[in-house]
Amino acid sequence: MTHQTVSVGAGHGAGQGVASLKQKGYDGRITLIGDEAYLPYQRPPLSKKFLAGDLPAERLLFKPPAFYEDIDARLEQRVERIDREAKTVETSGGETIAYDTLVLATGSRVRKLACEGTDLDGIHYLRSISDVDAIRADMPDGARVAIVGAGYIGLEVAAVARSLGYEVTVIEMADRVMSRVVSPDVSAFFDRVHRERGVDLRLTTGLVAFRGEQGRVTGIETNSGEIIDADVIVVGIGIQPNDDLARDAGLDVDDGIVVDDHCRTSDASIYAIGDCTRHPNGVYGDALRLESVHNALEQAKTAADNIAGGDTSYNQVPWFWSDQYEFKLQIAGLSNGYDDVVLRGSPEDGSFSCVYLRDGRFIAIDCINSPKDFMQSKAVIAGLPRIARETLADTGMSFKEIQASLTDA
Ligand code: FAD
Repeated sequence: MTHQTVSVGAGHGAGQGVASLKQKGYDGRITLIGDEAYLPYQRPPLSKKFLAGDLPAERLLFKPPAFYEDIDARLEQRVERIDREAKTVETSGGETIAYDTLVLATGSRVRKLACEGTDLDGIHYLRSISDVDAIRADMPDGARVAIVGAGYIGLEVAAVARSLGYEVTVIEMADRVMSRVVSPDVSAFFDRVHRERGVDLRLTTGLVAFRGEQGRVTGIETNSGEIIDADVIVVGIGIQPNDDLARDAGLDVDDGIVVDDHCRTSDASIYAIGDCTRHPNGVYGDALRLESVHNALEQAKTAADNIAGGDTSYNQVPWFWSDQYEFKLQIAGLSNGYDDVVLRGSPEDGSFSCVYLRDGRFIAIDCINSPKDFMQSKAVIAGLPRIARETLADTGMSFKEIQASLTDA
């Protein structure tokens, strides 16, 4: 009997999973079930070049449609239930599909605001191609754009909207931008960049309600009682993992589907990859849930190798990026719990890095328009070495040289 691998979800991780299974010479049957209308595509450009209108939808596709000719791809279908005993999944189209190996690549969904006025027209979230299509259709020239949340997505949307000439206001509860992921130095840099380009950035400002007329949003009421007038709103306040299907099937779930270092769930026939997982990280020793392309791609490769008969563990230094105007922020490692920060270069130059230390160990770096630091530091972080502050601050010494000096020591 031919081995059957079924993927629930047809996003970034699933696309890489199919590609890797093919590359490994997997000779079973692959079924891809996704609830969107598209074959696997890349989400990062959605809040960047695609929103700006600089990239057609076809260019977002992970692989051209011909790549999936030997795959049973079922789009606009949701998997509603997993029957682990029968080893089948039930779809919204009423089909029951058998699997030998199941891959949960269900990603995450946006967190939604619960307040007065959320059902007004003109309020958008951003996760998919269709979300961006709806935002763009709702932004005539001269529209006033308000953004809720100064995280990656909110600030990327602000950068695109400002670059296109829209009036932009961003409201953020915290006292600095991207506070969940970067240090105060990096927040201060991007705060200045956005204000200099004309964004009206309101920190420590909470949303109380959306205000509207005749079913359409007209503004935001803030916790100071102020009304910020707006014609269109984009909300970017984070995501939550799509782990309900797994929970309902009795798999271990803990704010994400719990997997081992082989990307296996608590059922050996079921793997999970990408945003929907909580997985062990060999570098930091913690169980992590990550929201990044790199994690989705690497977990997909690991799962595919193991499905094809290999024995591969997932063990990576996480990395992320964000594009805002002409600035590329690249982050390697996880700065959680840092107790010291070292600057390499100067924010005034528009190109610098911010190094994070915990107990004297190098745990993460934020690189702003400094791709060399980013590329070279990943390998160094993997060992969480102790490095003197003066060495880290010395821009005359590359991370390659720093790494070599550690090996020599
Ligand atoms: P997804 O790509 O979300 O795919 C999951 C798919 O499964 C979705 O299509 C979902 O609808 C579908 N699905 C869920 N449940 C079911 C079901 N029951 N049945 C059928 N289908 C189902 N990451 C970066 O590293 N850098 C960036 O710059 C960056 N920018 C981003 C910008 C935006 C606007 C967004 C939304 C994300 C960005 N990310 C970025 C995050 C990155 O895109 C995700 O981490 C990545 O897509 C995760 O891949 P995934 O396969 O786990 O999930």
